[in-house]
Amino acid sequence: MNVKDIYDGINSMLPPQLEKAKLVIDSLIESKNNQRLTNIDYQIKYKNIACIRCGSTNLKKNGHKCGTQRYKCKDCDKYFSATSKTILNNSRIKYSQLKCVIKGILDVKPIYKIALESQLSNTQIYNLEMRIFSILEDIYINEKLKEVVQIDEKYFRVSFKGTKEDKMPRQSRKSGSKNLTPGISKDQICVIVAIDSYDTIIVKVVGNGPASTNMIEEALKDKIEDGTLLVTDSKSSYIEFAKKNNLELKQIPAGGHNVEGIYNLGELNSLMSEIETYITYEKRGVSTKHLQQHLDFVKYKKYLKYTFEYLEHNEEMLKDIVINNTELKCNDISKIELPFDLEEYKKWYERNHTD
Ligand SMILES: [Zn+2]
Repeated sequence: MNVKDIYDGINSMLPPQLEKAKLVIDSLIESKNNQRLTNIDYQIKYKNIACIRCGSTNLKKNGHKCGTQRYKCKDCDKYFSATSKTILNNSRIKYSQLKCVIKGILDVKPIYKIALESQLSNTQIYNLEMRIFSILEDIYINEKLKEVVQIDEKYFRVSFKGTKEDKMPRQSRKSGSKNLTPGISKDQICVIVAIDSYDTIIVKVVGNGPASTNMIEEALKDKIEDGTLLVTDSKSSYIEFAKKNNLELKQIPAGGHNVEGIYNLGELNSLMSEIETYITYEKRGVSTKHLQQHLDFVKYKKYLKYTFEYLEHNEEMLKDIVINNTELKCNDISKIELPFDLEEYKKWYERNHTD
């Protein structure tokens, strides 16, 4: 039934009937909001159910378990349900709670606040956030960068935020203490950021210390179409990267404009400042371990902004996270690794921070 049919049906009612219909609708909204099954209805409505093992859509319905439709794959005999591999699997989270969590994440509220508002625990919110970000990572990234690609790197101080004291290689940095290592050191995490003429974005954590050609390769290898023009600042690592990959390069000298005047890093700089706002000001720093996940979210938010009206963001994100699979299980979240060699870092830190 489309909106016009619904409207025509309702419009033909007299006021007393309308009032009764309103009561029915209000109570339905109330009860559906508070059900776990509404999440699954969402899935069924928007998801192309396919085999979680072989991807086949040649399926046979195979009864229900806890209100969830089960399937058997006719090609590989795998049994699974609509929720398998999604964040709804074995989850008792109600639709209203999920909605509240998504709104909290989009509004960049602190974890304890989202927990309070959705009546879930801090740990549940923390795990959900990591699993949601892991889903967003894979949305809209299939296209290669093309035409003109602006590239630069961004650095964040290494942060062991959320790591237990005894597992940390050093004392937490007291606020106001000065940075003992000027310039780009091993104490800084390098993020390669690239954006093309079609606003396709790559944001990739590549390790600590200044960007080397290898780090740039790690972020961008095989992700740029042949014949693409790269626009970067005057660092030599980009010259080597462009040469190795047969790409044309225009470098903009520090503080100046390039001779042709048409190439610049405008779009990239505005993306950089969005990243800075989210990580540094809204989140007040994130742990290095989870930096990539948070950056994936910044990228996803930008896609939402390009593609949908602001008022649709909550629902579009909810749809995306209930229909897409995640490989990240709750138990694996604590196993997410640092994007650099911790032992090497400890040695470097000892050498450079003796009082
Ligand atoms: Zn299968």
